[in-house]
Order: sequence, then C-alpha cells, then structure tokens
Amino acid sequence: MSGLEAADRSTWMELRDPNEVVEAIGRLYDERGSSNYDEAVTQTVHALQSAELAAADGAPPPLIVAALLHDIGHLLLGEWESRPDFLDRDLHHEDVAARFLANWFGADVTEPVRLHVDAKRYLCAVDPRYAGGLSPASVRSLEVQGGPMDAAEVEAFVATGFAEPATELRRWDDLAKDVDRPVGTFRDHAPLLAALVTMPERSMP
Ligand code: FE
Repeated sequence: MSGLEAADRSTWMELRDPNEVVEAIGRLYDERGSSNYDEAVTQTVHALQSAELAAADGAPPPLIVAALLHDIGHLLLGEWESRPDFLDRDLHHEDVAARFLANWFGADVTEPVRLHVDAKRYLCAVDPRYAGGLSPASVRSLEVQGGPMDAAEVEAFVATGFAEPATELRRWDDLAKDVDRPVGTFRDHAPLLAALVTMPERSMP
C-alpha cells in the first residue's frame, strides 16, 4: 500500500472484521468522495452510478463491488480535480487500488479494478467509436496513460483472463458521469461488500 497519502496503513490493518472494513471504506468516501471526479459528478456519485449500472446489467457481486470501488485509488492518493496537478501525472491509481483491495478481496474484484485503465486503452485500440465517446477528462488522462494499445499490448491484455470484466467495468465507468441520474448511498452496498470481504490472516485475533 505504498503511496497512500492520508490512509494510514496501520489503521487499515487494525480492522478486525468485514463490517469494520466496509465501514472504514465508507468513511473514506464520506471524507474524500465529495471531491469532483469529472466535469459533472463527485467521486462518490461516480462510484455509486458505476455500481448501479453494473447491478442493472446483472453483473455478479464481485464485479458490482469492483465497479463501486474502481477509483478508490484516487481517494487513497488524494487525487482530485481541485488540485492544480490533477491528472497531469499518472500516479497509477488503478494499481494502488488493486493492491489496497487485495487485503480483503479476491482477484474477481481486484483484477477488473487493476485493468480498468488498460481497458480504456484496449477499447480505444479495437473500437474506433469508443474513442470518440470519451469525456474530456478521459481523453486528457488517456494521454498520460499511454494512449491506445499497440497489437502486443492488446494481446497481453486479453491474456490476463480478465479482459471481459475489465471492459464491462470500463463501459459502466464511462457512463457513470451523469448529473441527472439519481443514486443511492454508499451504505446501500455495505451488505454486498461485507459478504465478499475475507480478513487477512494477520488481522485475526
Ligand atoms: Fe472511473
């Protein structure tokens, strides 16, 4: 969990059961999620819309959780739009998120999260219409993320075995920037989250 600005590692490692983990994640969104994500919505609204789109499409629970938490790396890194350097450098929020979430969640949650930026680069390479539909912030971040994949990168992406869920997550991600779409609350997802949390050995009493 290197690179966490404010999320103190020892505090996270003291969490004792799934409900405490979920509550701590909820507090992170309470404290940092009201920052703006894109031109339109906050981090928390973006997360909730992503999860709600996934659920509406009949995604399995781990992929709904992945959709909800896919940008938690931005919160952990203290990256948000009001900062003058927002998205100027790529801090690899997807890797930070996947490493963080791996403390409690399996690969069916962490891998789509880890690959959701690559999924944009993949879709830009294989689907010309996709690139045309990106928001201005996504176009801007695409540049610092390396632009569309080349053929070898496409092959490697498919070989991860998580191309499909990562690409599905990406499409919900892109749609989850709608000011007019009403959302529930982070706590609506608490039971789903808690059911998927596995406590690390070191945290056992
Ligand atoms: Fe996102």
